[in-house]
Amino acid sequence: MFIKDIFESKETVISLEVFPPKPEVPMGDVLPAVHALAKTKPSYMSVTYGAGGGNTANALEVASAIQNDFDVTALAHLTCVGAKRENIIGILDSFKNNNIENILALRGDFPQGVSFDKDRMDYKYAYELIREIKAYGGFCVGGACYPEGHVENPNKEKDIDNLLYKVEAGVDFLVTQLFFDNNMLYSFLYRLAAKNISVPVTAGIMPVTTAGSIKRMCAMSGATLTPKFRNMVDKFGDKPEALKQAGIAYATEQIIDLISNGVRRIHIYTMNKPEIAGKIMENISSIIS
Ligand code: FAD
Repeated sequence: MFIKDIFESKETVISLEVFPPKPEVPMGDVLPAVHALAKTKPSYMSVTYGAGGGNTANALEVASAIQNDFDVTALAHLTCVGAKRENIIGILDSFKNNNIENILALRGDFPQGVSFDKDRMDYKYAYELIREIKAYGGFCVGGACYPEGHVENPNKEKDIDNLLYKVEAGVDFLVTQLFFDNNMLYSFLYRLAAKNISVPVTAGIMPVTTAGSIKRMCAMSGATLTPKFRNMVDKFGDKPEALKQAGIAYATEQIIDLISNGVRRIHIYTMNKPEIAGKIMENISSIIS
């Protein structure tokens, strides 16, 4: 089913993100974890894709299992940084052959230590990949957006102007970068409305449950930490079980506040941890039914 049709058919849509193992690493416990996440009955599940395309086979295997074996609609991420057009077309063929109908089209981050001639790449920005997939046909296509601005672009207004390229390319929906302060999302939604961008937006929520992941995630995403979040980490940072419980509660509160304020679509970055996503789904079970 197309994700845009899922949005039409449900009042509240909760989706989950998983990641495949790195290239050449066996599936190990990834598929059982993904299966356990599928059993929490999300509206759909997305599978990340390594920039540079090194783990295409694993990403395809996980997305195919979700779509064909676990009875959940799959959203396959696809990045285009450094990719050749013929490879992208080959991957679209593989998605088609595996019944995958939804793609999150991304540029990806430039791999460190590799130099690119940015003017000679087949795709420079994500909107060009969106345009390619739309021209290929038969896919519902999403794109990324950034409530606090993309880390490479200090000008938030310009960042939203750049989103218009994705809209013009025919993007069907947008998924946000993670954020810890819901006001960031609300003000972003107002700014989109002011630019007449009416594409459905899904809010990305990351339950933070380990102290080690916080610095890395903030550096990658540029997300602002709220005082409440900082206090939580200060208090429980060296008590893993307490931090896990507090992180689940923080994410649950964020989600309840979003739904209370009319945000109908929420994407949970699960880090392949069924027990954490499962607890959040349980916490909001009556709210989303
Ligand atoms: P773009 O939309 O191309 O934007 C990149 C930068 O270029 C931005 O600063 C933008 O403002 C600017 N820009 C865009 N268009 C133009 C234009 N026409 N002219 C000038 N400037 C322009 N990465 C992965 O490697 N794998 C994943 O699976 C993955 N999943 C993600 C899922 C979500 C929901 C999000 C939010 C991010 C994900 N990422 C993933 C990270 C993403 O690839 C990076 O944030 C990357 O740096 C930007 O990707 P993009 O698709 O937003 O790029």
